[in-house]
Amino acid sequence: MRHVNAARARSRAILTAAVMRYEGKIYRPPSEADAFILQATIGCSWNHCTYCDMYREKTFRVRELAEILDDIDEAAREVGDHVEKVFVADGDALVMPLDHWLPILERARSRFPNLRRVSAYAMARNVLDKTDDELRALREAGLSLLYVGPESGDDVTLKRIAKGDDAASHVEAARKARAAGLSMSVITLLGIGMDRSEEHARATAELITKMDPPYFAALTVTVVPGTPLATLERKGRFAVPSVDGLLRELRTIVDLARPTDAVFRTNHASNYLPIGGRLPRDREAILATIDRALAGQIPLRPERSRGL
Ligand code: SF4
Repeated sequence: MRHVNAARARSRAILTAAVMRYEGKIYRPPSEADAFILQATIGCSWNHCTYCDMYREKTFRVRELAEILDDIDEAAREVGDHVEKVFVADGDALVMPLDHWLPILERARSRFPNLRRVSAYAMARNVLDKTDDELRALREAGLSLLYVGPESGDDVTLKRIAKGDDAASHVEAARKARAAGLSMSVITLLGIGMDRSEEHARATAELITKMDPPYFAALTVTVVPGTPLATLERKGRFAVPSVDGLLRELRTIVDLARPTDAVFRTNHASNYLPIGGRLPRDREAILATIDRALAGQIPLRPERSRGL
């Protein structure tokens, strides 16, 4: 999962950030730009993915419940009527036990009268570690959307990048979340398969078909200094594929993935070709756009404009 820093967020999130006691950098998905970001956990309970530097400087912990509830109260005083979305940070906040989650969701509902969505990052294991009843209780209390980043459906790649969960675990997590009424947004990562580019793309398409999320996104791998991936790159054991190679991966994923009805986006700043639409409805149009980009007929996002 690699998303934008809240410091770059616009509108109400900025206002809220100004009054919150955030610890370290805060990340959230692009679609949560207007959310109140509630930092309930610090860091990521896994923190091993080779490409990720988001929480490397943080030691994982769940914040004291009283502090979290205070943050909700404080945000409510400042911007309460304007909060329609709450994004619960940091890295895999679903890992929190229910004795934290339920009071948080209850307090958020009572303090933000216009609240319509609560979301969080989650690893597959966070979903699998919760019982069906616990997931249903979370949904009933107001949690509605999980952002899950398998990055690849290729188990060899998943092992190489120390993702911590294999493809089958992600499929089971998606099934379990759906059964509880939780929506899922799935994040994949172009270029992370390196010499397994074709296998990575095909297996990722298959994973999307099996997870069948209502939302999925493709980001592009960026080698961040200080990460294990940067060390591998320095030693010549990892290289980001060419831009054409990345576009071909994207093409394979769009061509082969068979979600029932998914909103698909590559609008993240890391991507060379920002596109969006619904799959399967817009498949042919998206493929035609990718083909035009491969033929050099569409300008790509310049390197200097790409970001994490
Ligand atoms: S699960 Fe991996 S990618 Fe996501 S925050 Fe943790 S270390 Fe980073």
